[in-house]
Amino acid sequence: MRSQVIERLTTVVIGAGHAGLAASHFLSDRSIDHVVLERGEVANSWRRERWDSLRLLTPNWLSRLPGLRYEGQDPDGYMTVGEVTELIERFAAASRAPVRSGTNVTSVRRTDDGYRVTTTGGEIRCRTVVIASGACNQPSVPQFAGDVPASVEQFTPFDYRDPAKLPDGGVLVVGASATGVQLAAEIKRSGRPVTLSVGEHVRLPRLYRGRDVLWWMDASGVWDQRYDELDDLTRARRLPSPQLVGTPERSTLDLNALTALGVELVGRWAMVRDGRALFSGGLRNVFSLADLKMNRLLDSFDEWALTSGRDAEFDSPERFAPTLVPAAAPLQLDLGSGEIAAIVWATGFRPGYGWLDVPVLDAKGQLRHDGGVVDSPGLYVLGLPVLRRRKSTFIYGIEDDAREVIDHLARYLAARG
Ligand SMILES: Cc1cc2nc3c(=O)[nH]c(=O)nc-3n(C[C@H](O)[C@H](O)[C@H](O)COP(=O)(O)OP(=O)(O)OC[C@H]3O[C@@H](n4cnc5c(N)ncnc54)[C@H](O)[C@@H]3O)c2cc1C
Repeated sequence: MRSQVIERLTTVVIGAGHAGLAASHFLSDRSIDHVVLERGEVANSWRRERWDSLRLLTPNWLSRLPGLRYEGQDPDGYMTVGEVTELIERFAAASRAPVRSGTNVTSVRRTDDGYRVTTTGGEIRCRTVVIASGACNQPSVPQFAGDVPASVEQFTPFDYRDPAKLPDGGVLVVGASATGVQLAAEIKRSGRPVTLSVGEHVRLPRLYRGRDVLWWMDASGVWDQRYDELDDLTRARRLPSPQLVGTPERSTLDLNALTALGVELVGRWAMVRDGRALFSGGLRNVFSLADLKMNRLLDSFDEWALTSGRDAEFDSPERFAPTLVPAAAPLQLDLGSGEIAAIVWATGFRPGYGWLDVPVLDAKGQLRHDGGVVDSPGLYVLGLPVLRRRKSTFIYGIEDDAREVIDHLARYLAARG
């Protein structure tokens, strides 16, 4: 019989995206021995799970990671997927992260003094684990997708690559957050008729008073708002991504821009009955709520500009035309008529914790944690929406989160000798 060698380490980090690598950076700073386990390669989700034309919606100057600042020629531009992959690879190399690629974590269990991590490359015993396996491991698709007639092809952002791979004919894009508006515009420009199903959404202009709207989020302190200071944290964590796209023209991609392109807008897709898609009415309310929230945010930027004494630096305040309500948005679509050849589900993403054998998931399958400190001693998470701040969702938000979470981990280890 072969004896099985069990490796022992202080910390195991799961996932070599930017979050896992940031954890590794701060663990190395504190000389805590660790390994970063990655089922694929560094930046795997950017290599395997994104569509071809995707660019970051955050400008280059915001794409900073611990010890790494953007130093290129185009600070106001937006990185392609290839450039993001390179950035994360550079970060891994600069911080000499001990990444073990091609190593899938299949189970994490609690032991008396820590955790037993089972992988395709063997077993590791450790005292602490940092989960950095991503918030977007699977596309989130409503159950009624199963009732769509087989004649209609279905895609998610994980299998959509470019419009040429879609069948000929009309396309129904479901969801009007960043992914949905970007794909609806791209598919419409390819010459196909596009219908976009719109639920609650976050409308933003690309530029406001001459600056990127995300510059305002950063400068005015919105993005630094902490998770424990928000009135409704659950809601903040569920907020859809903003209707933004990163293009060289820095153009706005809201519903008015899509209407101008010829995209037809319908309400939230509620169910499938007898082969028909049924949509909610009340688009007027949905649109005015999004307009109202956008205007409130712009008001808060104007107020910040005045109170910080910087008002004169910017163009005059501006307000944008309300979202145009279609004269008669259809309430249903016959999916068997041939009018719709394909559906693209842009209905969000969710994490996958099928390998986690520690009882720390709530009824919705989300990790129970307080600012990244999971409800099990020595277990931590990074990379979830509004983990510790509003900016946690973004690449640039990881530095502060990772520093604080690894600080907590170091204190936990120190307290236990
Ligand atoms: C479509 C899209 C667009 C986005 N656009 C922007 C943007 O413009 N700007 C911005 O700042 N952010 C953006 N984000 C958000 C965020 O930056 C990305 O989701 C980012 O990939 C998250 O990084 P992460 O390290 O937390 O997770 P990931 O990059 O998903 O990394 C997790 C890693 O864990 C690995 N893994 C998972 N399970 C296991 C396992 N069991 N064993 C071993 N390894 C495992 C995966 O292979 C992966 O490499 C976008 C996200 C999406 C989905």
